[in-house]
Amino acid sequence: METWTTLRLVGDGMEVPCVDGMERPYLSFDAAASTAALPVVAERVAQFLPWYSGLCQVAGYKSQITIAAYEEARASLLRFAGRADTDTAIICRNTTEAINHLASRLGLESRDVVLTTVAEHSANLLPWGRVAQRRYIECDQDGLFSIEEVIAGLEQRPAPRLLAITGASNVTGWLPPLDAIIEAAHERGIPVAVDAAQLAPHRPLPHTADFVTWSGHKMYAPFGAGVLIGPRAFFARGDPFLFGGEAADYVELDQVIWSEPPQREEAGTPNVMGALALAAAAHQLEQIGWEELIAHEQQIGRRLREAISSLPGVTVLGPSDGVLTIPIVTFTVADIPYGLIAARLSTEFGIGVAQGTFSAYPYLIRLLGLPQEAVEHVRENVLRGDRRSLPGAIRVSASLSTTEQDIDRLATALGRVTDGSPAPVPYIQVPHSGHFHPAQARPLWFAHHRALVTGSA
Ligand code: PMP
Repeated sequence: METWTTLRLVGDGMEVPCVDGMERPYLSFDAAASTAALPVVAERVAQFLPWYSGLCQVAGYKSQITIAAYEEARASLLRFAGRADTDTAIICRNTTEAINHLASRLGLESRDVVLTTVAEHSANLLPWGRVAQRRYIECDQDGLFSIEEVIAGLEQRPAPRLLAITGASNVTGWLPPLDAIIEAAHERGIPVAVDAAQLAPHRPLPHTADFVTWSGHKMYAPFGAGVLIGPRAFFARGDPFLFGGEAADYVELDQVIWSEPPQREEAGTPNVMGALALAAAAHQLEQIGWEELIAHEQQIGRRLREAISSLPGVTVLGPSDGVLTIPIVTFTVADIPYGLIAARLSTEFGIGVAQGTFSAYPYLIRLLGLPQEAVEHVRENVLRGDRRSLPGAIRVSASLSTTEQDIDRLATALGRVTDGSPAPVPYIQVPHSGHFHPAQARPLWFAHHRALVTGSA
């Protein structure tokens, strides 16, 4: 496809008001949090909406079309993940729900061990602590761990019941050597669950992992669907995660016969439009082709990293140049709070970036090299409701529509924010959130968008 690099996402370039009263085209450098929709995704949703109907009334024509479209979307998500019919794709809300779903279905006991890493997002840390003991693979100062360290964790006794690992870090963008890691776990008879929330939009999903989870809203399909993939036979055993209609074939007051998976795992009315949206996004990525997409994103990622690391006072967190990453750059700036930088980029330049801990607090404190006393001090402050001292960083992340001109615009804005000259308006930091915003009472642009917020636009 010759033209895909000029592809725009829905809403790209929309003007937003800035604190100087000017409007600027909004520039999102926050794809790692969520992406706007691909046009084909929005078109698919608009195309199908008139046909949408409930799934229980299977006799109706529209219902039959809806069921068929939903099952077709499911099948294409399985294909996108490189899976055979022996696996199943369970449609859920997002990665967080998918991992909680899996954690509840594994039937772990509190003394069982789940091996995971300190580089995980909270979504791949907290659910495991609820159902089992966690053993952690540590990282070095660059946020990396080696295959030998993974093997040491796999071989430690008691043997882990599962390895739960990210496919790509949402902080550094690092791609752990997944294939080798999965092979090492399988050689020791340990199944692997991959959190592919960050991986899915940027790289093919690991075909050999036992379980894979990802979210539509990070893959150009922000319509509330995510996926949990795993062996169909695994989900055919035991009680489902959620109890309710659709999951059961037959119900008496004290009896239930569960359906076969995947329906068994999808109690309640499914998110058909979300599944269709996600399948449309998957289809578009397949059409572009991984080779093309990866080559393009590597170039964009390199440019982004060069542009940011060349600014004075900037420290980029994570692996050094040359280590493969998805296009994410996370950094701090000497003597300027990370939250102030993000606020200024937004209010003065119309650029959206992420700031804070990115729900990967243990990883971030390691990358920042924070001593234990500092961690304890922060914990006490947070307990008192004061988040101003939370350690954090600024994260910029690119999507497939990010251009070199976008990077130039970001670099110019960042240069202005970090060059030591005073901000055009005073900013204040809110104690309970730790966020910065312009000190003036209520910026005018808030009123400007009221109609959008209430839906009366
Ligand atoms: N894992 C990783 C690596 C993530 O980046 C995120 C989202 N930031 C999640 C899990 C959770 O995804 P969701 O919010 O879609 O459940």
